[in-house]
Amino acid sequence: MTDCIFCKIAAKEIPAEVVLETDRALAFRDTNPQAPTHVLVIPKAHHADAAALAQADAGLADEVLKTAHAVAVGDDVAGAGYRIVFNTGPAAGQTVFHVHAHVLGGRELTWPPG
Ligand code: 5GP
Ligand code: ZN
Repeated sequence: MTDCIFCKIAAKEIPAEVVLETDRALAFRDTNPQAPTHVLVIPKAHHADAAALAQADAGLADEVLKTAHAVAVGDDVAGAGYRIVFNTGPAAGQTVFHVHAHVLGGRELTWPPG
């Protein structure tokens, strides 16, 4: 999709600190990290949010989740515990409308979130 920043990262038109890549998914570090581990996992194909992705391609949604877990293992936060967040819609704070899983870990994560 034109003018989608995460499509441009997926196409390697914009640089990112990639931590994992599969045929259909890409994981890269957030430029404004909220925790020692803060990685975004996207499908390379454009889907606006988690609901749209699950509806359009359940297998790809599964791959994003598995990649999120692999990121946590790779950053050595899986044992202690980590969080996967899909902000969905403006009221939840979604600012980039290309679905992305936030993988957060490496510190105590409060619950409920703010
Ligand atoms: P949202 O608020 O949509 O759930 O999350 C968007 C996230 O993307 C934010 O945490 C923001 O810091 C991150 N972000 C926005 N633009 C870029 C970028 O160009 N590169 C990277 N690596 N992260 C970005
Ligand atoms: Zn996109």
